[in-house]
Parts: sequence; C-alpha cells; structure tokens
Amino acid sequence: MSNEKIARILYEIADLLELKGVDFKPRAYRRAARSIEELEKDIAELYKDGRLQEIPGIGEAIAKKVVEIIQSGDLSYLKQLREEFPAGLLQIMEVPEIGPRTTMRLYRDLRITNLHELKRAAEEHEIRKLKGFGERSEETILKGIRLLEQRSGRMLLGYAYFYAKDIIDYLISTGGYRLISVAGSLRRMRETIGDVDILVGSDEPKKVMDVFTSNPKVSEVVVKGETKSSIRLKDGIQVDIRVVATESYGAALQYFTGSKEHNIALRSYAIEKGLKINEYGVFKKDTDERIASKTEEEVYASLGMETMPPEIRENRGEIKAAIDHMLPSLIELDDVKGDLHVHSTMSDGSATVEEIALEARRMGYEYVGIADHSESLKVARGVSKEDLVKNVDAVRKISERVEGIRVLAGAEVEILGDGSLDYPDSLLNDLDFVVGAVHSGFRMGEKEMTNRVVAAMSNEYLTILAHPTGRVIEQREPYQIDLDRIMDTASENQVFLEVNALPERLDLNDVNCKRAKDRGATLCIGTDAHSVPQLSYMIFGVATGRRGWLEANDVANTLSLKELENRLGI
Ligand SMILES: [Zn+2]
Ligand SMILES: [Zn+2]
Repeated sequence: MSNEKIARILYEIADLLELKGVDFKPRAYRRAARSIEELEKDIAELYKDGRLQEIPGIGEAIAKKVVEIIQSGDLSYLKQLREEFPAGLLQIMEVPEIGPRTTMRLYRDLRITNLHELKRAAEEHEIRKLKGFGERSEETILKGIRLLEQRSGRMLLGYAYFYAKDIIDYLISTGGYRLISVAGSLRRMRETIGDVDILVGSDEPKKVMDVFTSNPKVSEVVVKGETKSSIRLKDGIQVDIRVVATESYGAALQYFTGSKEHNIALRSYAIEKGLKINEYGVFKKDTDERIASKTEEEVYASLGMETMPPEIRENRGEIKAAIDHMLPSLIELDDVKGDLHVHSTMSDGSATVEEIALEARRMGYEYVGIADHSESLKVARGVSKEDLVKNVDAVRKISERVEGIRVLAGAEVEILGDGSLDYPDSLLNDLDFVVGAVHSGFRMGEKEMTNRVVAAMSNEYLTILAHPTGRVIEQREPYQIDLDRIMDTASENQVFLEVNALPERLDLNDVNCKRAKDRGATLCIGTDAHSVPQLSYMIFGVATGRRGWLEANDVANTLSLKELENRLGI
C-alpha cells in the first residue's frame, strides 16, 4: 500500500466526516493525510520500525487506522462511513463552492445523490426553488461542474457536442468556411472527449483565427497563433482550432480524427503498399510524390479502401472491411422512427405527455413511448397501481387528440430483487410496451444478478431491458452481470436490449452493442429523456450504435409504426 493510497483513504474519511457534520476531526484527518503524502520514506517501513507516531499529525487513533490499512489493505471504519451516504455525494463536494453543508441540503431536500442529478437539477431550475438559492447559484454550480469535468481530463460527449456545434455554426455563418469539421474523439463520437478540436481548411489562416476569437461566447483567448489557437468559452470549456492548407484538408482531417490505433494500422498498411501517409497526404515512398490529400475519400481510395465512418475508426476490423468493400451500412439518425423511453410529469420528468408528443412529432417520429417509473422507485415519484390505470387512459386520449403521431402507453418497471416486475401481469397486459430496469440492489453477485434479470426477461410482457449494465460513466461501475447470458436470453425471448442515450449512461456501450448484435439480439435506442430538450439525446444513442457497427435493422425503433404495432401485438 503506497503512501499516496493511504493518504487518499484519510482524505476520504475527512470528507465523509464533514458530510456527517462532525467538527474538528476532518481537519485532523486531512493534516495526517498531508503529512503522509509529504513523507520521503515508505510508510510501511516506518510502521515496521514502530515509528508511525513520529509522523506529524498522526496520533494514536489515526496510527491505529493506518496499521489496519497496511495490514489488511482495507479499513472497516471507512466502509462503515461509506454506507451512510450515496457515493456520489463526495463528487458533489468536489464542485467548487459547494461545501458539505450544501451537499447535504441538496441531498435532503432534492434527493440529489450524484453529479449528473446535480447538473440536471441546475439545468432544470430545480435548485432555485430552495430557500437561499437563486439563478446565480445554479449558474455557479453548472460552471463548477464543467470545471470539474475538465480537471478530470475528459468530459461527456453529450456536453462537448453541442458546444462544438455552436462554434462551427458561428465559423460557417461568420466566415463562410466550408472545409470545416470537428476532429479527434469528438468526431468519432466517443463517450468521453479529451479536447474539443476543430479543423478548418483555408489558405488565409490569419482570417480564420480572427473570426474564431471574435466569437461573443469567448471569455478568454488562451493562445492565438498562426495556425493553432485556443479559446475558453464563458462556460469554462476550452476549444482548440487548427487551420491547414485547403489542398491538404482531407489528409489532415483523416489524421486528426484518429484514432491513434486506426492511424497506426493505416500507416503500416500504407508501408506494405510502398506508400507513406501523414497529415499532409499520401506519398509514394520512393519518389515522395503526393498522390492524395484534398479529401478523406481520396486519401482512403489511394490506399484501396472505402472511406469508413469516423465512428468505427478504432482498429476493430474496419480497415479490412474497407479493403474488402464490406463496410456496414451504419444506422443513421434519420432511420429512427420513435423513442420508447421517455419520462413525463407523471413521474420524475418535467414535460407533460402532450409536450412530449408535440416535440416527437416535430422531430419527425411516428411514435413516442411514455415510460414513467413504477411504484417502488419512490425517489423518482414512481406511479402507483391505481394511478397507472388513469395514466394509461390519459396517454391514449392524448394519442388520439394529437394527430400525426402515436403516443404509446408504457412504463419503466422496477426489476425487483427476485426478478419479478413491480406491477402485476394484469396491469402490464394493459400497457403497449414495458421497459424493465434495475435501479436498486446493485451490489449483488454476478450469478444472482444475472438470474434476477433473466427472470424478468422471462416475463412475457417485458419489451425492453433498459440500461442493461447500470453503469454511469465515471461515476458508477457496471453491476456484475453475465452479459453473454443476458444477450442470449434477449435473443431467445425477443426482448430488446436498450442503448440508453443519456450522455452519462450510453448503456449498452459501443463494444457491447456489437457483441449483442453478434449474439442475435435486437437493440432499441431510447433517450430516457426527462425533459423536452433531452429528446435530442437520440443522436448520442445512434452514435453509440454506429460505433458498435449497428445497422438500421438491428434496432427496433427504426421500425415503422405499423411494423412496431405488429411486433408488439397492439
Ligand atoms: Zn432507468
Ligand atoms: Zn428511465
């Protein structure tokens, strides 16, 4: 056990004690943690020599705990403390200007247990309803969260995406640029993004830089160079731009899109063919003659390949497929005919069923499925059995009233610990579709959890298994579950596996989408929207599916309304 690890444990204890409202002790733990961090010797050696208490700030009580950590690799006191609070509260405390008191208030009054709930509450103006909080506090919180995301080095695709789009729209409308794109992991639509990178092809780079830095949303120009600049937006996000000559735009776009693994594989393939490839183009190795550079298509064609969509450039078989003309025809946003996972004001959503219907129709959908939480999920205002009957009725009436779209009456039903569903079959039978989800008891062992979910999937009314691994990106690991068995059961019982499109979930993820498809399961992309704007998250679910090589016919909600009605028997 390293000094650093032991220090981290003591820091965590300090945070947890602070959450509990304990005085003085947190400071003592922090002081001890800091001394251990600053030690030049391995703490285990000091322990062997019986000299722990010579470390400044380490008295008898803390020394005892350090001994337990060194001997067992763990600390029962920490485990006890952890049980008292949701794990996400510690991350909330890391948001600048949110201390333990505020964290506890948000938890007690608004049931906010993690960063993404905090973000959502601030965005949906829930926080200003608390006494002593206002519009400004919400802005401060959102800014703090963004800073935290940047500090951790990566931010969620869903947040980076719209900022990048905004900057590009500004460059196009103000500068009239046509050779322009995001690059890097954002273009590949990875679930988390390191940097927001924009690439422009122009022979007047200075002008591009002037336009880029003149954006009214810029709060700070970090660097302004001839061909590379960085700005920081008012929301704290940093955006980098690079300008290349128009004649090498395609080669640069290919190069800066990556991935690194894809580019390495491409480079060695080029060498085999007597060529070399870099950010300026594809060249003949012997004569240095440039044979391709203007467009990405040209670059790939010069290597005898079809151009693969950026989402699959991960060196997972796409290069061979491109050579063999066997690239999949990936699902597109336009293939999606509806969304079967939307929450309304009937549980914890902020939009009414009618507002959802109108937006879904505006998006060009043929159907939208209301799936509010079931009775046992009290924190999300789960719907009682009595209310469910009334709600179904209300949804059907709205579906009749709003022309041009069918609103389906469903529910997101808790999969209880024993694998039974939270509503009786008689009620499930009344619904147009049923989404099943695990929201509790995450700590089960793999076998128990798998049996639990498989049991739920054996209920003939279950249509979709929501967020099948339960992971929340950078916040919660997937629960232990035998995914192969889940996928096989899904395929046998014809249950759709969800690709949950919430930026913090994206569950199944890209790799598991491919695995599910290979095992014969059908997927279903649902936004899990809790508000009208979140219906637009569909794009992230589609992107995840594309990264998992999904085609339209692998995904249930590309079915037309008629086809879906047949499939659901409604
Ligand atoms: Zn859910
Ligand atoms: Zn949901």
